[in-house]
Amino acid sequence: MKITSGEEYISSLKDGRKVWLDGEEISDVTTHRTLKPTLTTLARYYDMVNDPSYDDVLRFTSPSTGDRVSVFIEMPRSKEDLLRRRKALEVVMREFGGLMTRFPEYAQGLMVGIMDVKDELAKGDKSFGTNVENWYVQMRESDAFAVSALNDPQIDRGQGIEGQGGLKVVERKADGVVVRGTRTISTNAPFANACLCLRKPVPAEATDYCIDFVTPLDAAGLKIVCRPSLGNGRGRGGLSSQYDEPDAALVFDDVLVPKENIVLLGTPEIITKTFGRVTSWSPYHDLIRSITKAELLLGITSLIVEYIGTTKFQLVMTDLTEMIEYVETLRTFARAAEADFETTPSGNVAPNHAILNMSRLYYTRNYPKMIGLMHKLSGQSLMTALTQPYFDQQEILPYLEKYFGGPKVTAKDKAKLFGVAWDLSCGDFAGRQALYELFNVSAEHTLRDRLIKTYDRSPYVELAKRIAGIEQ
Ligand SMILES: Cc1cc2nc3c(=O)[nH]c(=O)nc-3n(C[C@H](O)[C@H](O)[C@H](O)COP(=O)(O)OP(=O)(O)OC[C@H]3O[C@@H](n4cnc5c(N)ncnc54)[C@H](O)[C@@H]3O)c2cc1C
Repeated sequence: MKITSGEEYISSLKDGRKVWLDGEEISDVTTHRTLKPTLTTLARYYDMVNDPSYDDVLRFTSPSTGDRVSVFIEMPRSKEDLLRRRKALEVVMREFGGLMTRFPEYAQGLMVGIMDVKDELAKGDKSFGTNVENWYVQMRESDAFAVSALNDPQIDRGQGIEGQGGLKVVERKADGVVVRGTRTISTNAPFANACLCLRKPVPAEATDYCIDFVTPLDAAGLKIVCRPSLGNGRGRGGLSSQYDEPDAALVFDDVLVPKENIVLLGTPEIITKTFGRVTSWSPYHDLIRSITKAELLLGITSLIVEYIGTTKFQLVMTDLTEMIEYVETLRTFARAAEADFETTPSGNVAPNHAILNMSRLYYTRNYPKMIGLMHKLSGQSLMTALTQPYFDQQEILPYLEKYFGGPKVTAKDKAKLFGVAWDLSCGDFAGRQALYELFNVSAEHTLRDRLIKTYDRSPYVELAKRIAGIEQ
């Protein structure tokens, strides 16, 4: 089925999937009170990408059907294709303030990566190449919402892969394989049509743990266990309900993966060879989202200093320039990754991998600083931000209007701004966002490990030797 509107997207989730949230089993994710606001945000995404006024930016013509399909799943063959992807990402991310971390575009970027290494995957088994192609076309034509799950639970990181409770093949059958174990975290799994389960590089002997596949979220034996919700009106600015993307553990209780859903099986060496390429585009999507998020933080903080009248203090403005520095440096990373693009062995054009990694390290280090500046420049108004129901209280309304506003803003609008600032920097939602920004692509040690293993320092060592007069 092709999803052509938010309404159709919501209907596609009525499939009897097994989901737990806030300690209860949910019978229907589309009608649940806590889940509904975020589902509505996702439906807005589908309405947006199907809106003819965005067609030029968000769509391209499918080579197989001639339909207009998502530009995020187009195989980029030139730098211009990459720039078109950026433009489309900017349009979507700006619409939602960079607050949704896993929209359907993210896994479409991953699917581009999987398609890029199709020939390598086919070396494990010819059928895997065909399966990749079929899934790619199916995702392209249906615009289904896929999410990802790449990580094992944290049971004992000091042990090898056997000690982690991760997903493992326990039986091979004529029609597929049976998998057991858990994958964490899969953001928005309750809201997705499918999940891309991919294995990160593992030791050579861990063959039973090596399986990459696509699973529907209503597969028999699959249990989706979400973390406690952030919504339920506990936030102040509405972000914690509208943008509360459920992060879930996927528990595979002996799930049959049909053979046509498998794209890699039992070959750690192929994972080692292909994983970097598979993840060539999705971190770029995340970088563009991060830029929008930094822009939003800068915009909110700019309004804060205006509304509390501190713009005349030079020290305040100097702090604000630090936020400008973060926004512009992130933008520079994106431009550099595009300028120094890489062409893969399949002839696809990818953003520069090393620069993307560098941008992740830069962003994870500086995101807490941006939040810290928002705290620093706000003062008490961040703490006292009132929610809108206070303004319905007639007895206190005149006092709120007198003491909670400012020369440039009404009390109500100031409360709205500080409510959003609270959600982004102090409340439950802020905590989830901070953890997401820190861990979503990879933990810092993984990025640094990759960097030290791949970065060519030899020209600089030679330079140092020459300057020091060392001959060998
Ligand atoms: C909110 C949120 C949403 C997410 N959504 C998704 C998603 O949708 N799909 C998805 O696939 N992933 C997602 N992730 C990412 C993923 O789940 C992991 O958090 C991420 O890959 C890091 O792994 P980990 O949490 O197991 O941390 P670990 O790898 O266990 O690291 C924990 C700590 O131990 C240190 N450490 C561990 N091992 C080593 C080592 N060998 N050497 C040095 N230090 C080490 C790390 O540096 C870190 O400080 C999400 C993460 C978060 C927080």
